[in-house]
Amino acid sequence: MSPSAVILEAKSRLARARSVTVLTGAGISADSGIPTFRGADGLWRNFRAEDLATPEAFARDPRLVWEWYNWRRELIATKQPNAAHRALVELEGRHDRFLLITQNVDGLHRAAGSNKLLEIHGNIWKVRCTICKQVAENREVPIALPPHCRACHGLVRPHIVWFGEALEEESLDRSMGAVASCDVMLIIGTSGVVNPAASFAGIAKAAGAFVIEINLDDQPQSAMVDLMIGGRAAETVPLLL
Ligand code: NAD
Ligand code: ZN
Repeated sequence: MSPSAVILEAKSRLARARSVTVLTGAGISADSGIPTFRGADGLWRNFRAEDLATPEAFARDPRLVWEWYNWRRELIATKQPNAAHRALVELEGRHDRFLLITQNVDGLHRAAGSNKLLEIHGNIWKVRCTICKQVAENREVPIALPPHCRACHGLVRPHIVWFGEALEEESLDRSMGAVASCDVMLIIGTSGVVNPAASFAGIAKAAGAFVIEINLDDQPQSAMVDLMIGGRAAETVPLLL
């Protein structure tokens, strides 16, 4: 199929769908200037994300982990949603049965106006107390270190699902439900190596959905999708409407 035929096919599948589920990853926000973890500019002081975004790293050196998050908060605070985030808001308006599942923690989908949204990996603008578990919004940039809980003065951590941690059960149930019951699944800008999101394409396909992927390059899940759209999210997602 030619690139324009691929776009037409995706567009008509979406227009006919009774229910749509979307999964996004760091690639959609790359077009807003936020580095992906696996991209060339994803490193901070030579640490890899996998060395910092873990409960073990936080237990060993909470200040170091918070310094990294302060760097990311500073960077993300200056970024805006792009045309792909906005197109997904429009898509949500066209379908009663719609869910946008994002692995991103940057809050750009909400900033764009998405409501049927599940931030399965949490949000960088929220903190959670390590003692009383209370979750609070915190938009300080940079956050004063070490940050403490307003309720019990315990140390707070980012309200983010780290490597090696499980998703909240409700998040997992709602995403699995939406993935297993949609007619069309759209997968945008994710490498598909982090579970459970990595399994979503397979689950949607097994349940009979038509799966469309948008990414700069082929990914492990690309072999099983029905339609692969190669290109930048901000340029290609708006073409689907
Ligand atoms: P990833 O870094 O593993 O993969 C990014 C994917 O996006 C790659 O497949 C890449 O080819 C693709 N991509 C890059 N630029 C693109 C563009 N302009 N258009 C379309 N595709 C593009 O990210 P992931 O799969 O989301 O998973 C890693 C974890 O990283 C997640 O848990 C997420 O929470 C976290 N993360 C989040 C952010 C954010 O919130 N913006 C940023 C970095 C990492
Ligand atoms: Zn507390």
